[in-house]
This record gives sequence, C-alpha cells and structure tokens, in this order.
Amino acid sequence: MHLRDALSPSYRVMLLKSIKIGTARSSPGKLTYGYFDGIDLPTGTVDRLPVMIAQGTQDGPTFFLTANVHGNELTGVAVIHDVVTEDLAKELKGTVVAIPTVNPSALRLFQRTSEYGEVDPNRLFPEGKFAKKDEEDEDSKYPKPYEQIAAKIYAFIEKYGDFHLDFHNHSYRSLPYAIVDRIFYDDEEDRKVATELSMRQEEMVDAFGAVTMSDFPPKKYMNLKYHRSLSGSVLNNLRIPAFTVELGGNSVILPDIVAGSVKGTRNVLRWAGMLTTPKEKITEWKVPKHSGRIRRFEHPRAKHSGIIRFLVNPGDKVTKGQPIASITDIYGRFLGDGYIRTEHDGYVTVLNSRMTVYPNDPLGEIGIADDADLVAPNPLLKE
Ligand SMILES: [Zn+2]
Repeated sequence: MHLRDALSPSYRVMLLKSIKIGTARSSPGKLTYGYFDGIDLPTGTVDRLPVMIAQGTQDGPTFFLTANVHGNELTGVAVIHDVVTEDLAKELKGTVVAIPTVNPSALRLFQRTSEYGEVDPNRLFPEGKFAKKDEEDEDSKYPKPYEQIAAKIYAFIEKYGDFHLDFHNHSYRSLPYAIVDRIFYDDEEDRKVATELSMRQEEMVDAFGAVTMSDFPPKKYMNLKYHRSLSGSVLNNLRIPAFTVELGGNSVILPDIVAGSVKGTRNVLRWAGMLTTPKEKITEWKVPKHSGRIRRFEHPRAKHSGIIRFLVNPGDKVTKGQPIASITDIYGRFLGDGYIRTEHDGYVTVLNSRMTVYPNDPLGEIGIADDADLVAPNPLLKE
C-alpha cells in the first residue's frame, strides 16, 4: 500500500497544494472564485482577470484551463463554465485552475484583439530562451499592455501548473482539431527532455478526442511566433505539457461544439489521472480516420481575386485535383476554369468565412501527411 493511502482522509487533505492567485484561494472539495489585476486602465479602473479554482479532496496535479485570448472565440468560456463546477471539485484528484477569459476587453468588444492595441495577443507570451539578446532593440524593453498581462498569466502557470489546455475557435466552418506543437531543443541532453515531453504531449492531445494535428513545420511555426502563443510558450519555455484546441463555430456558441468539448476536456483530466470515471465518447463531431501523423496546411490558394463558394465540408477526405471551391467574378461568371482545386491528398479541416479572395490567399486549411519533425533544433542557434 502506498503511504498516502494509509493516511487518514483529513491528513490527506493537508497534503493538497495551497493555491493563491490574486484574490482566489483554493479550498479542498470546493469551487472558489476570485480575480487578479491585469492592467490599470487610463480611466481609473482596472482590467481584472477572473479565476476559478476547483480543488478535489485528494492530492493530484494542477491543470490550467484558459480561454478567449482571442475575444471573439467564445466556446472555451462556456466549456469552462460547464466543466469547472462544484461537482467537479467533489470528484477531482488535484486542482483545476480556470481563467474563463484571459482577454476581458476583447471579449467585451467581441473582437480578436484587446482594446490596448492591434497586436495579436496570442503572440505576446514570454519568449524565454528564444528571446534574441539585442541591447539595441528598444521595443523589447517596453512590453506592450497585453504583454504585461500575458507575463502574469504565464507566471501563475509557472508557479503552480502541471498541465495546460487553451481553447480557441478557428472559423465558423472548421472541424474541431487539437494541435501538437513543435518542441525545440538546444543540445543533445535537451533533445532527450524535449522528445519525452513531446511524447507526453501527443498522448494528452489525443485524449481530447478531436482530430490530432501537428502544427505548421518548425520554420513556419517560429516565423509565426507560435512559440509566443499561450500554450506554445508554456510548452516550449516552461516545458509543461500544454496544447491548443481549435474548435469550430468561431464567433458563435454552437451547443454541440460546447457539449463535445466538455467531454473532451474531461477526457484530458482522466488522462492526467484527475478523474476516474470512464472516458466519454464524442458524438458531436467527425474525427477522420487517417494513417500516420497529419499536419496543418494552408491550402488551396486562389490564383485570381474573386468570389468563392465551397464545394466541400469540414471533415471531407479530398484527393489531389478535386475542386474545393468555385471562383467567379462579382457578376457570378466563372474565372479561369471556374474552380480552385487541391494539389494534395488530405482532409478538409478549416473553411474560411470570407467570400472574397485575392491572389495567393488560402481558402482554409487541410490536414496533410506530416513529414516534419515534432522535435527540432532551436532554429535561433543556427543564426
Ligand atoms: Zn484563437
């Protein structure tokens, strides 16, 4: 018998981690609420971030759930409301810390970015070892308003977190998919750590129950600053297993997507050993069967400016040469042969909401075979 099991229940409660985030305090067997200050507003009040802490009565990991860094991506707020409940606290081993919106001003404005500026907030999380040491870079000395909030969220995850899941919505018509981020290493010793972390992360992402996709290949991943996304920085800098799930129904609340995501989130808590109930089957969306790993790929792309209409649905299997959309001028007359075709075999994952395209614009994303490494050398070391 494990020593812990031999202890009396009241002694076991004393072993639970005490978590303090702003005004929120963990309490064994309870769901508690509070907030922390994000940033002072010029108009005399403070932008505060809400915190919910559900703590079980048995010891276990601390799992962070975050949502709504892009203010018009709403599903995660509802998922946190439905997952993080008094009932959860009663059955949980360990603690769930949830921040239902990490970008309150963007939620109020119902837009992607905060009111403080037009920079994508999900590229402003700490850069850690990827920060270029450039004394002449004046901007790096003055973190942007959202960057200051991002550093606080990151510090709480660093202090208490064992796992992390961040909720997003890709487009209105997208297949829910969970992302396996690339992980970068510095040397041989670090490579072993990164490989082990990547394997754990893949397992955790699979547990959610959406289609699992690798992120863009290493070079594009870094160019897009995905290592400064919330889950990307937690994973790559803090080396804590973390992932982003991209749900469908951007800008709206679709009850099916919420219901499936609630099951998926609880499935991940089961994977982490925090719930003992059986895994729930997700019936709310399709999970295409595929062999081998697939990755995100922005495709196909328009050759002309024009008006598009899709001929496929999210989740469809497509083969090279198949028309994905029709393309016309504004009068409805075909441009070229009238179609935009895929040049790759794969699965339709994302159809963009826009009807207009310019030359080179991607129409969405498809999942294609991933031949890039999940664990790659830190590209900054080569420069
Ligand atoms: Zn997003």
